[in-house]
Amino acid sequence: MSTAAPISLVTGGNRGIGRETARRLAGLGHTVLLSARRPQDAARAVAGLAPGLPGRLLPCRLDVTDADEVRALARRVEEEFGRLDVLVNNAAVNYDTSRRAVSADLDEVRHTLETNLFGAWRTVRAFLPLLRRSPRARVVNVSSESGSLELMSGGTPAYGVSKAALNALTRKLADELRAEGILVNAVCPGWVATDMGGPGGGPVGEGAAGIVRAATLPDSGPTGGFFRNGEPLPW
Ligand code: NAP
Repeated sequence: MSTAAPISLVTGGNRGIGRETARRLAGLGHTVLLSARRPQDAARAVAGLAPGLPGRLLPCRLDVTDADEVRALARRVEEEFGRLDVLVNNAAVNYDTSRRAVSADLDEVRHTLETNLFGAWRTVRAFLPLLRRSPRARVVNVSSESGSLELMSGGTPAYGVSKAALNALTRKLADELRAEGILVNAVCPGWVATDMGGPGGGPVGEGAAGIVRAATLPDSGPTGGFFRNGEPLPW
């Protein structure tokens, strides 16, 4: 099936910033694949969000650490839509504020990288053939100031290293895909009061706004950037 509405995929779309990003993209008329590790979580999120939105929200199963699931979803999107316009790599784990680099459990670090870095990397690669068929492909890697080398301090080792690596991946992909017009950017949502961010952060809408901005950039928009609220952050 071919559709004029942009086709977007949000990973970790069942709660937090991912859920709000999916809602906002559907609010702009996108057909949004709201993905979650557990299908019932995706279905629940869609049931709660869908009424009244101009775009469609489609629940789907996706654990970004599972290569078979990533490939299966890419096949489904190819069969149903033939292309993907927007990929939001939002899924992440383990804001490990209680840990230190000098003593971190490296299995925990590896597990964190498996989701926060390799999950995004695997998903981009699986969907790249479909992004290449889009007239306006955008990839948004949801990152964090914790991944800024310039601003980096001790603590939060697994998470900080995973987001620094995600930022590096953003630069690599952006450069390699620039000539094809695929814009790839990293976005920090700021401190947001989600399960990960905890109390005291801002509303999810503030976090999602910068992600949606990067997901809907004009063709003249930046690529290979790191932004918060549309403003550049130091790498
Ligand atoms: P959150 O509330 O903890 O939600 C994380 C989402 O990621 C959940 O939907 C979770 O699914 C999903 N997820 C985790 N592992 C996954 C996997 N292997 N496959 C697919 N989905 C997976 O976090 P959030 O605050 O909304 O964070 C969203 C993004 O913003 C993350 O990239 C985070 O690093 C970034 N960020 C957040 C803040 C903040 O203050 N909140 C600040 C800077 C950056 P389950 O429900 O199945 O666990």
